[in-house]
Amino acid sequence: MSLPSPVSADLFARAKAVTPGGVNSPVRAFNAVGGTPRFIRSASGAWLTDVDGREYVDLVCSWGPMLLGHAHPEVTAAVQAAVARGTSFGTPTEPEVELVEEIVRRAPVERVRLVSSGTEATMSAIRLARGFTGRDLVVKFAGCYHGHVDSLLAEAGSGVATLALPGTPGVPAQEAGLTLVLPYNDRAAVTAAFAEHGPRIAALVTEATPGNMGVVPPEPGFNAFLAETCREAGALFVSDEVMTGFRATARGGWGLDGAHEGWTPDLMTFGKVMGGGFPAAAFGGRADVMAHLAPEGPVYQAGTLSGNPVATTAGLATLRLADDDVYARLGAVSTTIREAAGDALAAAGVPHVVQAAGTMFSVFFDDRPVRDFAGAARQDTAAYAAFFHAMLDAGVYLPPSAYECWFVSAAHDDRAVQHVLSALPGAARAAAAARDERPTTEEVR
Ligand SMILES: *Cc1c(COP(=O)(O)O)cnc(C)c1O
Repeated sequence: MSLPSPVSADLFARAKAVTPGGVNSPVRAFNAVGGTPRFIRSASGAWLTDVDGREYVDLVCSWGPMLLGHAHPEVTAAVQAAVARGTSFGTPTEPEVELVEEIVRRAPVERVRLVSSGTEATMSAIRLARGFTGRDLVVKFAGCYHGHVDSLLAEAGSGVATLALPGTPGVPAQEAGLTLVLPYNDRAAVTAAFAEHGPRIAALVTEATPGNMGVVPPEPGFNAFLAETCREAGALFVSDEVMTGFRATARGGWGLDGAHEGWTPDLMTFGKVMGGGFPAAAFGGRADVMAHLAPEGPVYQAGTLSGNPVATTAGLATLRLADDDVYARLGAVSTTIREAAGDALAAAGVPHVVQAAGTMFSVFFDDRPVRDFAGAARQDTAAYAAFFHAMLDAGVYLPPSAYECWFVSAAHDDRAVQHVLSALPGAARAAAAARDERPTTEEVR
């Protein structure tokens, strides 16, 4: 398996003694790929440095936020200046107004409320949708992750899929019973669910283009169909852009299926990139719906650190720097890496399919195109684990799970990209070897 990492191993042992699983977010623990998680000491541009002094090209980018790369000089300077002015006042501040104005300028939302995590954003959007409609049911899709909100954890992709967790212990049956989980890209299932439960459905929530089971783009017109189905039923269409927002394209994943003419989501959620590496997230949308939020309306929602001046300064600096050149670079880097990954796996004879949406992409270790979670779950996770560790040993940090996107940044320069390209063929051969070592399906039967 991997090269020894004594300092990381020691920290992991200490962490496990005081924190469940040794991590503060489950997928970080490497459970799905085995081995010891790398504790990162510092990062700059496209590169991570771990506590053992080893360097990696980062293809996780903090799971999406680091659009400009790590420690971008202008973002760092803005944050340092903000910290020096004081870090939290519990009052309105100028940067939060500017950040929200920037979001309203770029995304089809009229009013925005800032929160501190994507989970809080989707949780609040669901509460608002229920308060606005006076209804209780929520529709979601299997494999879409919307944070660890009780009502949205059912068949939630991402870490829940990575760890193969059974259901969602801790979520009351009454709560789970208010969530309808449908297969993604399945119009008939949506039509049937709305035919049966339409008058009770408060909201349908979906990722603008799912990225938490790997990238599974909506089939052409699917989002428009969802919006129309919601409109007819008087339910709200909630487009979760926590991952896609300001990353998949300059605006997000909304409309990526080319079918956004004539409709907009009722509510949207944002996070990751808009926080610039700090805990900032948001939900927003139609002014008449958002008017139901306290203090304007009766639906309560609040946060001690919401709109925090340091976090909003980092987000604002990031979004202002995210111009056309940044997205052009992201597009070029993701195209180069995903094509090279496909070529290397093909040369090694490893079944795979590469899927992309805007600048987001992922590699499935199964050769059939993936259109829903059942498809994503077919992949050969053992082959991915071997691939992952070979890449790690070669100095490339991939997501420690086969169910995640590979994230790049505008700081991935030619040297970083070349480093990834040179690691791919060996990792593809390691994946092929892992497949050969295992009994075939027939032998198991
Ligand atoms: C990451 C993510 C969330 C949760 O955001 P946190 O900040 O981790 O709570 C919600 N929705 C989507 C689509 C995400 O990718």
